[in-house]
Amino acid sequence: MTSRRVRLAAAVVFVSAVSWSYACSTSGEGGASSPPAGEGHAAANAQPGTWEDWCGEHGVPESQCTRCNRTLVPAFKAVNDWCAEHGLPESQCRACNPNLRIERPAKRGAR
Ligand SMILES: [Zn+2]
Ligand SMILES: [Zn+2]
Repeated sequence: MTSRRVRLAAAVVFVSAVSWSYACSTSGEGGASSPPAGEGHAAANAQPGTWEDWCGEHGVPESQCTRCNRTLVPAFKAVNDWCAEHGLPESQCRACNPNLRIERPAKRGAR
């Protein structure tokens, strides 16, 4: 009788220790699922006008994203496509054009 009670107590301790360490490890893994740095931006060799050429952070083609590439700014100013108030190309300025929708080009199929 006595030995049986001891074994039961040991089993309870074992189970609770396992479940505690399991809960600990799962909660530790929860915060590690953030995307790697650089996610959302096109690769440098992306073809302009393709699905790959897209700045996910700013919702415009990466090849036309003046917020990622300040050297593009003079080109937009040269064609009068510039909103000085918001520091954006007028054609990308959602503050001035609330109905503006910039569509990401369709992803090409496997050739
Ligand atoms: Zn951008
Ligand atoms: Zn504007």
